Amino acid sequence: MLLRHTPEKITDRNSLTINPAKTCQPIGAMYAALGIHGCLPHSHGSQGCCAYHRSTLTRHYKEPVMAATSAFTEGSAVFGGQANLIEAFQNIFKIYNPDIIAVHTTCLSETIGDDVGQIVRAAHDDGKIPTGKHVIHCNTPSYVGSHVTGFSNMVKGMVNYFAESSGRRNGRINIIPGWVEPSDMREIRRLVKEMGINPIIFPDTSGVLDAPQTGKHIFYPKGGTTVSDLKNTGDSRFTIALGEVASKAAGEALTAKCQVPCHTLDLPIGLEATDRFIDMISKLACVEVPGSINEERGQLVDVITDMQQYLYGKKVALFGDPDQLISLTEFLISIDMRPTHIVTGTPYKGFEERIRSITKDVVPDINIKNGQCADMFLLHQWIKNDPVDLLIGNTYGKYIARDEDIPLIRFGFPIMDRIGHTYFPSVGYKGALRLLEKILSAFMDRQDRDSKEESFELVM
Ligand code: SF4
Repeated sequence: MLLRHTPEKITDRNSLTINPAKTCQPIGAMYAALGIHGCLPHSHGSQGCCAYHRSTLTRHYKEPVMAATSAFTEGSAVFGGQANLIEAFQNIFKIYNPDIIAVHTTCLSETIGDDVGQIVRAAHDDGKIPTGKHVIHCNTPSYVGSHVTGFSNMVKGMVNYFAESSGRRNGRINIIPGWVEPSDMREIRRLVKEMGINPIIFPDTSGVLDAPQTGKHIFYPKGGTTVSDLKNTGDSRFTIALGEVASKAAGEALTAKCQVPCHTLDLPIGLEATDRFIDMISKLACVEVPGSINEERGQLVDVITDMQQYLYGKKVALFGDPDQLISLTEFLISIDMRPTHIVTGTPYKGFEERIRSITKDVVPDINIKNGQCADMFLLHQWIKNDPVDLLIGNTYGKYIARDEDIPLIRFGFPIMDRIGHTYFPSVGYKGALRLLEKILSAFMDRQDRDSKEESFELVM
């Protein structure tokens, strides 16, 4: 196998990352932009970058991801990409007719120093952007941050360009869902609507990246947050930003621009984080939690109680995005498992402190690495030195799982070799139930596979 030569002996590394636990910023910006209705993402850089971003999203979401590129040549790399970008605006509006073009930069255009904000203003002034159409942008140099910070930057760009305050509140609430699946955004909307509230969720990739097959190719599927709703976010009663890394910056920008109060919560993955999400909305919006949601919660608690003996003390290694890992770790602790090694390549200063505070009573000696050199090579070494019962992370974990013969539950981004993640939620009580079912199935499949003939059981 590819990773068979990973050594057990761990040496200090400060300048080398091997198999990073993250991808590049523009992928996140592109994903966020697809959550606006009628939006065509545009990559301001070379064609190769755009091809990589599109193919990564396409492999994960199993949908054709449309995006344009400034198609830098050697000339643009030397003299800057302004001419390419303005020409691109004209071509894109004429040929593909989107409502919005959402531009993100790449390493190359950032290194050249292209000022995309100024280029967009110049295009407006010169009448290169048709009336009623929009261009927004964000900066996403990939030598800092990760796909999650790219997502955050584009969502903040939506606030910067669109949010307006009319001085009158519209009675709605904003939810910034963070980097989650289209199924999760759909589930968040269902839960909030169940509480009698009509939220503005932005971005919202449900109906875009999980669109049904109709036999016809639809360039701009009917999902996505509308421009009108993005403008209305400035009149909402409050914002719930889910995830410090992916959503907080946009929520705070909205507070600064339109004085809409923002409350940042963990992603509602697992029992306790979902409780906090539901309680916060109930309290701030002054609505009762309906019996239907309490019933879902009760079902989850029932399954946790029934299955506790299969989960107790099981060791697990995790890698992925920080907002997701924080909630997931809390959930695993709540079902009596032991998160033992955790790695995220996305830099987030508060990560280690949060994870340690969640795990301190159960796993005081937990291994955590975040940011620089936080990679899957180190995770593999930790597992070699202190084996675990389960690995949870994206598709790249399959090499470690095979080498070490441990089950892998695919969770996070990207998942390129399985389906279901875009259709079945991981958030809310129903999402927690699904996660629990996957964890239990992994352990029981393993037990069935490994048990001796005399202890092979029909009912486990
Ligand atoms: S890391 Fe930079 S150069 Fe590489 S694909 Fe991403 S934006 Fe392009």
